[in-house]
Amino acid sequence: MIVLNDFVKQWSLIKNSAQNSLNRVGNSGWLILGKEVEQFETNLANLLGVKFAIGCANGLDALEISLRSLNIKPNDKVLTTPLSAFATTLAILKTGATPVFVDVDNQGLIDLNQCESALQNDPAIRFMVPVHLYGHPLNLKDMSILKKKYNTKIVEDCAQAILARFADDFVGNVGDMAAISLYPTKNLGCLGDGGVITTESESLAQMARSLRDYGQTQKYVHEFIGFNSRLDELQAAILNESLLPHLKNHTEKRMSIAQAYLQGIKNPLITLPSLTKDAQSVWHLFPILIQGSQKAFGQHMLNHGVQTAIHYPILITEQKALQSTDVKFEILADLKNAKHFANQQISLPIHPFLTTEEINQVIHACNQWIF
Ligand SMILES: *Cc1c(COP(=O)(O)O)cnc(C)c1O
Repeated sequence: MIVLNDFVKQWSLIKNSAQNSLNRVGNSGWLILGKEVEQFETNLANLLGVKFAIGCANGLDALEISLRSLNIKPNDKVLTTPLSAFATTLAILKTGATPVFVDVDNQGLIDLNQCESALQNDPAIRFMVPVHLYGHPLNLKDMSILKKKYNTKIVEDCAQAILARFADDFVGNVGDMAAISLYPTKNLGCLGDGGVITTESESLAQMARSLRDYGQTQKYVHEFIGFNSRLDELQAAILNESLLPHLKNHTEKRMSIAQAYLQGIKNPLITLPSLTKDAQSVWHLFPILIQGSQKAFGQHMLNHGVQTAIHYPILITEQKALQSTDVKFEILADLKNAKHFANQQISLPIHPFLTTEEINQVIHACNQWIF
């Protein structure tokens, strides 16, 4: 079976160096927020060309801590997308603010034109949480124009898009802050949960550092209502020694698999991703739109030995958690494109351990699809 993520192959690649990390951290006698986390933060900031990186417990917290660092208030409205991991909206709801949903574009990413109309029409919208979904970068030039024109605070959700670029810029550099998830399936996934916040602002970095650690400014001095959202030394050590060194290679591998799919899959019942030339995706997922039923397509692929998934089958706006009367949100459009993705999108395996034979098997299975 060709699986969506191969953690067993990942383990055989990293197990020697990960054992070293375990020994090093064990021998150091320091387990939470120490040298390894600092080193990881420095390594990541250098890699992304940002001034500050702040490790935390997961991607959800990275989003919420960023919003809280930007002083979001319960009555603020936040533009976001209905097609994402639920965590994107959950982070907004947990701050007490109101998510405002617009539709996605034809690649499944938040529609920046609809964002502009929303910002024009409602000055109460002060924040935006755009998502670089599937590893595809949003148009950073347009996003930066919106930010300046409407003075919008932006937290970029880069959970799926570490190292993705639009023109010469990495995602995460337009927003006031950006959130990255280190959840195992992500492009830089650790051996458990983890997250990172990036920012250019020293004061925002300081606030995020305080919020991740009970809102402390010094030991036992609590200035803010914070979180327990720390990255531990062991995860950071493994990231430093075993995972970060492969990130560039693994990203290039994903890109080359994507090229093979884009060239090899030729089926009028399948629509492939189509990005503008400035958009350099890191292919966290390889999303296709199919004609026919998702369930039948999934079964067809399984019959050819290929696992697939849907990202995402239920729009955030339709989740039960949002239907309770005390949850406030707004929907500004008909969400036609988002619904189309929920009903027709399929993700093909694109992890860095796929062999040429397996890639060809996926292509062949797609080309055999009829209904
Ligand atoms: C994974 C993910 C998150 C949440 O990250 P966790 O580390 O699982 O909390 C948020 N947004 C997007 C787009 C994601 O894919």
